[in-house]
Amino acid sequence: MSLRVAMISEHANPLALLGGVDAGGQNVYIDAVSRGLAERGFAVDVFTRREREDQPRVVPLTAGVRVVHVPVGPPRFLPKDDLWPLMPTFRNAIERMTRAHPRYDIIHGNFWMSGWVATELAERWRVPAAQIFHATGVTKRREQGEADTSPSERIEIERETVRRAQRTIAQCPAERDELIAEYDADPHRIALIPSAVDLERYRPAPQRAARQSLGLDADPDAQIVVYVGRMVPRKDVRNIIRALALLKSRRNGEGNGRLPQLYLVGGETEDPDPVATPEIGILRALAAELGVAELVTFVGRRQPAELHRWYSAADVAVTTPWYEPFGLTPLEAMACACPVIGADVGGISFTVVDGETGFLVPAKDPAALSARLEMVLRDGALRERLARAGRERVEREFTWTMAARRTAALYVDLLNEGGESVSRSVGKNEQIAFPRRSTGRLADSPADRLARRGATT
Ligand code: UDP
Repeated sequence: MSLRVAMISEHANPLALLGGVDAGGQNVYIDAVSRGLAERGFAVDVFTRREREDQPRVVPLTAGVRVVHVPVGPPRFLPKDDLWPLMPTFRNAIERMTRAHPRYDIIHGNFWMSGWVATELAERWRVPAAQIFHATGVTKRREQGEADTSPSERIEIERETVRRAQRTIAQCPAERDELIAEYDADPHRIALIPSAVDLERYRPAPQRAARQSLGLDADPDAQIVVYVGRMVPRKDVRNIIRALALLKSRRNGEGNGRLPQLYLVGGETEDPDPVATPEIGILRALAAELGVAELVTFVGRRQPAELHRWYSAADVAVTTPWYEPFGLTPLEAMACACPVIGADVGGISFTVVDGETGFLVPAKDPAALSARLEMVLRDGALRERLARAGRERVEREFTWTMAARRTAALYVDLLNEGGESVSRSVGKNEQIAFPRRSTGRLADSPADRLARRGATT
């Protein structure tokens, strides 16, 4: 019988469209890690809040992974900062859905609110909890100050969750250091598990073909800079536009060089819409004010299946957020053999090797970014070297198979800390010793029954 994982994620649903304000890396993580765990023989149920009337209660994602839409709060999108008051109901609803047989072996909390729910359920069900924050309240408060709309309890709840969870997963060394320094985490209870990239989905394509398929400038001398990500102030796309303006004024002064085009992928809608995505309006005004409007194209939100073509079409990918808990887009660019210029913050400092797979620049420093852009755009041999090294690096260090294997190993450690062992199969031909637990594990649970019925709400 498979080991069962309850993956709790109140707002980030692996079935959601990506690129909007509250749908980014966390959704990708839950999707990829759950699939990877299922391939290793685990059965994963992802519990997330129902956001639409027509969402079925249970949706199979792949063999071994189901998304359970928990009917809590109104059946419509709510900003994640409004969800905290709903969490006790969310916890109770999950408990009610699984009441007959609390049959999960591990609870995996995502983000701070589900961290609280995960530790609550773990204590009630007497099973271990692993927690990953994806972003921390301390960093957000430091970087966003007044603009941070997180509930005031956030940091205290995060501290409590670090205390209550058996393990906290850090995605990069900077996050591990922060958990220790700011949250008093016990270093022995932190697992460093970097997130990753899907190497088949994100693969290099010939630049010309990629440009053609996207309907971009076919001139082989045209140069393209791409940003992929959510359109929110902290991603500081404004910094990229400022750097482009600096590049333009320097080139004008020197009177040479065709200027690159900047493509911005992301936003709430397929067609770039400043009403749906206010940041697009701000960026558009800034580009006009700085005289680079004709160099900037807003693409709108795009789904992952298309993104490899954007990275492959580009000469360089840029991301310079104020802070970045991990940052999947630099890995995606590297996987597509696209050099990256990234801000030297958080996970980017860990994934991008300065001078080898791209360049690191200080955040909020358009002059530094502009200088690196100039260097990379002018040197084809350098770009080729960075591109090759980037792909090699992700193949070596950042695959989802590795992340899932490390997560599975973490679960095994936690279960083995629990007591007497029994042998259970967790994958093809793999037998690992697991503790015998007191929780009943019957073949059927309310979630199973709902899944069979395909019940809708
Ligand atoms: N993304 C996407 N379509 C878009 C914009 C972004 O699929 O239009 C994806 C992007 O490819 C990446 C994720 O959203 O996988 C963003 O993750 P990242 O860790 O870079 O940033 P976060 O959004 O978590 O802050």
